[in-house]
Amino acid sequence: MPKPSLPKPFAPDSKLVAAVLPSPNQDARAGGGPDIILLHYTGMATAEEALARLRDPAAKVSSHYFLYQDGRVVQLVPEARRAWHAGEGSWANERDINSRSIGIEIVNPGPDFGYPDFPARQIEAVIALCRDIAARRAIRADRVLAHSDVAPERKQDPGEKFPWDELHSKGVGHWVAPAPLVEGPTLKRGDRGEAVLMLQTMLARYGYSVPVSGEFDAATGAVVAAFQRHFRRARIDGVADSSTVATLRDLLAARPILAA
Ligand SMILES: [Zn+2]
Repeated sequence: MPKPSLPKPFAPDSKLVAAVLPSPNQDARAGGGPDIILLHYTGMATAEEALARLRDPAAKVSSHYFLYQDGRVVQLVPEARRAWHAGEGSWANERDINSRSIGIEIVNPGPDFGYPDFPARQIEAVIALCRDIAARRAIRADRVLAHSDVAPERKQDPGEKFPWDELHSKGVGHWVAPAPLVEGPTLKRGDRGEAVLMLQTMLARYGYSVPVSGEFDAATGAVVAAFQRHFRRARIDGVADSSTVATLRDLLAARPILAA
């Protein structure tokens, strides 16, 4: 059998790239250019293990960028090409997230290995890279997303330690100050009715893939937890308390005006 050809070196898309280490795990994008930035943590014991996997033809996974804890940026796949990081998922009725997105793997071993804080210089590098990509490609603030946003039942990354508020304060992503936790009525697994329907409608309007059925099922709970992990980190339990609902309402109201 012929050996698989090595991926060709390419010119980096961003001035922030310290090294290009091509991954063979890529193909052509379907449809238009990317208009989502999707953030991940690597979730493996070491950075080198994660980087090797993202370049291993057998693993069939990759990302456009790989961001070390010290802030160094490596590019694996040209932005014009489709990298394989999102897997099965959906956002705003789009299912081929890989075709629509630029994927950034942020080195952090994740909860299986103690889930350490993201170092400040790594977050500074995430912010700089996202600003660079968003400016070059006119990516809307509310399309800078977590892997958990597009695959709520499978994924938790980049997780509840990821500082979305700090990104937003530096001009990256869409975010509003979360409504405070208060005692009060909640919507949870098994509930049904108008209030559940309204919650699901708002989540779907923001972009989440959620059944709009009026029944608070397991899928709804997973989406509520994903929403909390990104936008209301004080309590991540998949229960829609009044703070969760108020934060969602504020977020929708504050969304950048959509182009016609
Ligand atoms: Zn991921």
